[in-house]
Amino acid sequence: MDPVRSVKGMNDVLPAEIAAWHLVEDRFRATVERYGYREIRCPVVEPTNLFVRSIGEATDIVEKEMYTFVDKGEQSLTLRPEGTASIVRAYVQHAGWSDAPVARWYYLGPMYRRERPQKGRYRQFYQLGVEVFGDPGPLVDAEMIDMAVELVRGLGIERVAVAVNSLGSADTRARYRDALVAMLQPHRAALCPDCQRRLDQNPLRILDCKVPGCREIAAGAPVILDHLGEEDRAHWEGLRRALDTLGTPYEVAPRLVRGLDYYRRTLFEILELGGELGAQNTLLGGGRYDGLVAELGGPPTPSIGFAAGLERIVLSLPAATVPNDAPTVLVASTGPVTQEAALTAARTLRRAGISVDQDLRGGSLKSQLRRADKVGARFALIVGDEELGRGAAVLRDLAKQTQREVALADAAASVRAALEGER
Ligand code: AMP
Repeated sequence: MDPVRSVKGMNDVLPAEIAAWHLVEDRFRATVERYGYREIRCPVVEPTNLFVRSIGEATDIVEKEMYTFVDKGEQSLTLRPEGTASIVRAYVQHAGWSDAPVARWYYLGPMYRRERPQKGRYRQFYQLGVEVFGDPGPLVDAEMIDMAVELVRGLGIERVAVAVNSLGSADTRARYRDALVAMLQPHRAALCPDCQRRLDQNPLRILDCKVPGCREIAAGAPVILDHLGEEDRAHWEGLRRALDTLGTPYEVAPRLVRGLDYYRRTLFEILELGGELGAQNTLLGGGRYDGLVAELGGPPTPSIGFAAGLERIVLSLPAATVPNDAPTVLVASTGPVTQEAALTAARTLRRAGISVDQDLRGGSLKSQLRRADKVGARFALIVGDEELGRGAAVLRDLAKQTQREVALADAAASVRAALEGER
């Protein structure tokens, strides 16, 4: 029978790859918790209309990419394509504003979009995200962008571009939309079929189109920054001043629009420039979504957030940043008599906080030591008949190719001393 395979675009993360994932997850948690964010976990499945209302009907995600199904003939449900909609739903449902005027929440978990899979783009992918509710900015916008840069750089990903733009408020967008449509209308026939539709439904998205003909036309489009209203402009200038004060590197990207409808004012992305990711080099993206909480039934609440793609960050990590997750010690035994003593010795080491690998099937000492090599253990603790009689074992340093006898009772201290000696 043919073995069952995973769904296209949905990948296993194998134990050999997990150290990099843990590193990114741990760093993310540690970083955002230092900034006062607390974790929220929402369901992976939500009512479909949550995403239609928040992300926007005329977006690629809602039009083409959602995994939607009817739950036993009752309700249309969707596997979440992104995190913000669920977090906002939860904020409204649990009156998140009642605890404190400003809430800082973070999340991480899998998201689902039926996109065409390629390197850095999957149908199940993980996002790390943050949201701040209740602060109109612009200082919090700058702080968030700066925190994102710190996170990425702290992981050793140095070659990045930070792109920042403002989409203005709803008024600005309406005015800009008119200007954009007026400019693009004469070029309608030359646009790709998707953009011809976007021209009527969501013209800003034309600025995002990757088709060369559309890009050429869009290059002549007016920029939204020239259409900002007075308050939008004050916010935008406040953001730039704060970024300058913090010394956060950034570039103004007047054509940055991003694919979700709910954004207002501040918009930003961090792009990886090392070339590892090719076209899918946006490590993270976010922005302000001041209207969304009210749109989903809550009080008017200024809000901002970003989401980072875990796989893309992992793919961009320099090898040197990924910690070694090999066990420190492999405990081996020479035969049936010493096997049980070896079991106890391994437990003693583990209780002392040392990671231990052991092949409990026994087998020849040679094969056990081969395994030590394979898993990359630093030491082998060999429990042999003769030494065991003296309450001792042989501690072999596999890197230095040296060995000495140690008292079993002191094995953990001996391993520690050997490791300390290297620092
Ligand atoms: P978005 O939710 O579209 O703003 O995306 C935020 C981040 O999530 C992107 O910058 C990517 O790093 C990541 N991302 C979005 N879609 C995918 C995907 N299909 N596969 C992998 N990562 C993705």
